[in-house]
Amino acid sequence: MSALLEVRDLRVAYGKVEAVKGISLTVEEGEVVTLIGTNGAGKTTTLHTLSGLLEPSAGHVTFAGRDVVGVPAHHVVALGLAHSPEGRHIFPRLTVEENLLLGAFLRRDAAGIADDVERGYTLFPRLRERRGQAAGTLSGGEQQMLAMARALMCRPRLLMLDEPSMGLSPIMMKKIMATVAELKSSGTTILLVEQNARAALALADRAYVMETGRIVLTGGGRELLHDESVRKAYLGEE
Ligand code: ATP
Repeated sequence: MSALLEVRDLRVAYGKVEAVKGISLTVEEGEVVTLIGTNGAGKTTTLHTLSGLLEPSAGHVTFAGRDVVGVPAHHVVALGLAHSPEGRHIFPRLTVEENLLLGAFLRRDAAGIADDVERGYTLFPRLRERRGQAAGTLSGGEQQMLAMARALMCRPRLLMLDEPSMGLSPIMMKKIMATVAELKSSGTTILLVEQNARAALALADRAYVMETGRIVLTGGGRELLHDESVRKAYLGEE
């Protein structure tokens, strides 16, 4: 059986500047895989390429057995690859519920959509309380909840989360990571990009460490949490 997501020798450039320099990674069904690394390592560029927002200059990406290089972003979503982007990108003037419904824009099954809105509210009760409120009035943490719940509205086979804890208070960060753990235990397959390497490694089945466009280390999440070079470079330990 091949992996749900297979990336081979992927290269991505902005003009002459190569941001991703030939990376390979896999995500199996049911796994949580994290991609960690310093600022500018190329993590966001990688996710944007996987979801069809950027074209690679070389390499292969297979999702659910299909070659998705060159496939437009809305078709990639339809295949079941959802992306909760860095910076959330919610629609500030629309209500919480309207934002959620936009996550189901490709679906026509009204009953299933209503069920999934409920599921989003069960996962994030705060969103239910704020369902009629303009999304722009939510706190940063609540906007992150909304971005995650919206990404789940397409019933993805793979959920990509880019920096879900960015800019959040420690308490809110814990809440968001607890929700990622809850999604994991319900069987959601997740590719997680996270600055908070400690939280990401503690949660992930496997991890890839990226530096200046290359994957420099890979292993089990817990294994890397105890790796000396990772501890020094990413966990702020001597
Ligand atoms: P961060 O955690 O800071 O978001 P990252 O690992 O996600 O970092 P990327 O955002 O993918 O890194 O950036 C990788 C490299 O590509 C960086 O050197 C960055 O400056 C460059 N880059 C990113 N976006 C663009 C762009 N639109 N045009 C030109 N260069 C870019």
